[in-house]
Amino acid sequence: MDTDNRPERGRGSSGMDRRRALKWLAGGAGAVVLAGAGGGYAYRRSMRISRREANHLRNARFVVAGGSIGGLTVAARLRRSFPGARVTLIEPKKVHHYQPGYTLVAAGVYAREDVLFDQAELLPSGIEWVREAVETFEPERNRVILASGSAVEYDYLVVALGVEADWGSTEGLADALKTPYAGNIYDLDSGQKFRHLVRNFEGGEAVFTFPQGFVKCGGAPQKITWLTEDYLRSAGLRDNCRVHFCSAQASLFPVVPVIERAVTPKIEARGIENHFREVLRAVDVSTRTAIFEKMGEDGSRGEIRRSYDLLHPMPRFRTPRALRESVLTAEGLGGQLEIDRHTLVHKRFPNIFGVGDCAATGAPKTAATIRKQAPVVVENLLDTALGRPPSRAYDGTSGCPLLTRYGRCMMFEFDFEGNLVNEWLYQSTRETRVWWQFKVHGLKRLYRHVMIPGWV
Ligand SMILES: Cc1cc2nc3c(=O)[nH]c(=O)nc-3n(C[C@H](O)[C@H](O)[C@H](O)COP(=O)(O)OP(=O)(O)OC[C@H]3O[C@@H](n4cnc5c(N)ncnc54)[C@H](O)[C@@H]3O)c2cc1C
Repeated sequence: MDTDNRPERGRGSSGMDRRRALKWLAGGAGAVVLAGAGGGYAYRRSMRISRREANHLRNARFVVAGGSIGGLTVAARLRRSFPGARVTLIEPKKVHHYQPGYTLVAAGVYAREDVLFDQAELLPSGIEWVREAVETFEPERNRVILASGSAVEYDYLVVALGVEADWGSTEGLADALKTPYAGNIYDLDSGQKFRHLVRNFEGGEAVFTFPQGFVKCGGAPQKITWLTEDYLRSAGLRDNCRVHFCSAQASLFPVVPVIERAVTPKIEARGIENHFREVLRAVDVSTRTAIFEKMGEDGSRGEIRRSYDLLHPMPRFRTPRALRESVLTAEGLGGQLEIDRHTLVHKRFPNIFGVGDCAATGAPKTAATIRKQAPVVVENLLDTALGRPPSRAYDGTSGCPLLTRYGRCMMFEFDFEGNLVNEWLYQSTRETRVWWQFKVHGLKRLYRHVMIPGWV
């Protein structure tokens, strides 16, 4: 498949030479990042623990629960810092999903197979892979119990269980997804279906929603809205349809105010109708109606009903049962791992660490966040194992490639307070072709060949 922007009908007319140049530029940007990563690696080699320290840790048992991007990159990094480390990874799935590519599958840019990897090929050498799920955590006894009933004991544990869509969280949502009017990018099959629904859409009301609570990649519901609108425009259907983005949030992109100020007028100028403080409460499949609760700023509540011809309904998210029903979470965290947001060490169990979506750090739940958290986890884990206080702090940095339309992307990094980081590099408030090309052609390579093997 040609992954160079707009698919099938309504393709833009930009020349091949320019596209090639942009690919080249994106590749150049990738090379810069890779060179930086290489430099970082060279630096970190010097951070390897000494032979005496390695000897001290010879018998330590490191267990990583969850083997997606968070678990894999931590396990690989741990083995790089300490090649003799005894690492066990507990992960039931045999196929790894590159989830940041799901949006591009639904948008018709990637094929399904572009986002699937054989898990066995991703495993760092020298680690033990337990192909089962954790059933319960028993931190007082330093062990986890597997679904089969057997126990895995550890000295140090890293929890990387991620979060999952709770498809049953909203009445009628799961039923709606079975009809020929709705699809969702948070499930690969449903995302593929959504792509076909958009290709066959002939006009009417297109309704996209954004849920309450924590969200895996909080930019993805906006991205699919904006890409769909752009597709419908180029297909000549824009005058026949209305595009609604109905969000439980108070504004379009509240986590990064600078980006929100830059992007909101661009989106409004395209006629996308944003509706804020609207929480999807139910979908009535028989009448094709999405039912929202309007949360007034003054505390008032009301009901809004929107009929739809195309629906992208967002479920709420939750952590896997093994975590949310365990003692590792705490009141008010919605089942997330209780953790110090800077050291990434559990607040009550100092030999337990957390990385990625399942951890209650307040940072966005993205792979970009994990890229910054993994080095902190590994160094603080080794510090702890060697009897030192944790020496590194996660500063909250995360990133987002905001796909505003086919061929355009705003790329930015930001901290816990929503301030932009490295703006000089990203030119963050601009929609550029280069960052689109980098998202499509560069980021997956970075994920597969740099992040998973634990180079950054
Ligand atoms: C549609 C979409 C678009 C996205 N776009 C972007 C993007 O553009 N940029 C970006 O940076 N990020 C993006 N993300 C987010 C990114 O994919 C996630 O943040 C990342 O995958 C989180 O990694 P994780 O390892 O923490 O959790 P996950 O990837 O969710 O993995 C958790 C792992 O734990 C395993 N597990 C669960 N329960 C158990 C158990 N009981 N025992 C053992 N193992 C268990 C699971 O099988 C899974 O492999 C997107 C995600 C989606 C869905």
